[in-house]
Amino acid sequence: MTHYLIIGGGIAGTTAAEQLRKLDSTSEITILSNENHPLYSRVLLPHYITGKTPRERVFLKKPEWYLDQNIHLAIQEVQSINVYAKTVLTASGAVYSYSKLLIAGGGITRHLPWNGEERVYHLQTIEDADRTKDFLDQHAPNSLKAGLIGGGFIAMEFAELFANKHWDTHLFLRGETFFSQTFDQASSDLLEEHLASHNITVHKHTSLASYDGKMAKTVEGGAFAIDILAAGVGISSQFSWASDAGIQVGTGVRTNEFLETNIPDVYAVGDCAEYRDMVVDRQIHIGNWMNAQMQGRHVALVMTGDRKPYELVTSYATHVLGIDIVAVGDASIAYAEQIIARDYGDGRTLLFIRSDRLVGASVLKHNTDRAPITAMIKSKQSLIELYQSLTDVTIDLREIH
Ligand SMILES: Cc1cc2nc3c(=O)[nH]c(=O)nc-3n(C[C@H](O)[C@H](O)[C@H](O)COP(=O)(O)OP(=O)(O)OC[C@H]3O[C@@H](n4cnc5c(N)ncnc54)[C@H](O)[C@@H]3O)c2cc1C
Repeated sequence: MTHYLIIGGGIAGTTAAEQLRKLDSTSEITILSNENHPLYSRVLLPHYITGKTPRERVFLKKPEWYLDQNIHLAIQEVQSINVYAKTVLTASGAVYSYSKLLIAGGGITRHLPWNGEERVYHLQTIEDADRTKDFLDQHAPNSLKAGLIGGGFIAMEFAELFANKHWDTHLFLRGETFFSQTFDQASSDLLEEHLASHNITVHKHTSLASYDGKMAKTVEGGAFAIDILAAGVGISSQFSWASDAGIQVGTGVRTNEFLETNIPDVYAVGDCAEYRDMVVDRQIHIGNWMNAQMQGRHVALVMTGDRKPYELVTSYATHVLGIDIVAVGDASIAYAEQIIARDYGDGRTLLFIRSDRLVGASVLKHNTDRAPITAMIKSKQSLIELYQSLTDVTIDLREIH
């Protein structure tokens, strides 16, 4: 009997399992997850922390769902894969054999070296959210000073949580800009102004050297009295258990446009996958909910024999202290040949152009830009056509390379 084995019970792995069951009612389906929970929404974790969403509503599946679907959810930590024997070994010593293996392991949060310190916080799992919520609920507004490391989406979630408590916050940026892969200086400056209006002081080119629960010291020689330190410094999907098995790993587990790895019958999806994107025509690695879900759905088709390329334009959108921040498609400055900037004064949209086509964008504030941008990327239209469709708009075209 065919056995579909899935590593990771997040949205990508669970959606794949659900879709596999729809397509194949008799095969065996097993999810190996190192989190002892049914599927839950990471997107809702900040809302749970603030109390807007009750804890039980963060869970998207109930334990009974897995039984109803005849999907076996095994709480196991994958340790190694043998692609010749087609087996997976877990930390508890269990061995699972597979006919087809899907890697949907998401990413491992990069932790600060002072993680043992009880006042250091990260935000990836529901346990992280429980811990953060406990701390925030126990301390009154206006009572503390917070420290924050990072300039991306997770750091912005913490910025909002601290600002809601009216805690003075020191934000430490290793470089010069927020969202360094997708914002230019002007977008970053606008965001910095916005954060400053919520008592968040930004320290650029600053790295923390130590934190003892009371005092944070920087490599550059600064010292800050801080009651809580949070970090959003990214995730890594360079799983050694995949690369050790001979599965190609770049920034993530590498796949082609069919979400197949270099090893037969091994696939990868979601935050952990570095895949060939047919819309923007390059190998990309993006982490957002919609991409993880839709890749999970798509790979089930490929795994059951309907081998079509994955083609979708996705985005990561978040709302921070009253403004929207959105990354659409291939929102990578480093891979853009040109940028078209639309400056709204209070917001800014950057369009990334490569090979005479719109491939991605970053949006600060004017979220209404997102839908037309998504449509334009999807259409694969040339820059000339794009200019024609923007004739009523003042644009500022700059070469960046
Ligand atoms: C706080 C927060 C807010 C977010 N907000 C947004 C948002 O507003 N919009 C948006 O688009 N995206 C958002 N995201 C990102 C989004 O949640 C992710 O893109 C999405 O959850 C990725 O799903 P996934 O299934 O690929 O990976 P994951 O959800 O990370 O699931 C992978 C699972 O695999 C498990 N695993 C890893 N290694 C092993 C192993 N060796 N053995 C067994 N299991 C293993 C992991 O523990 C995890 O449970 C947010 C993320 C966070 C943390």
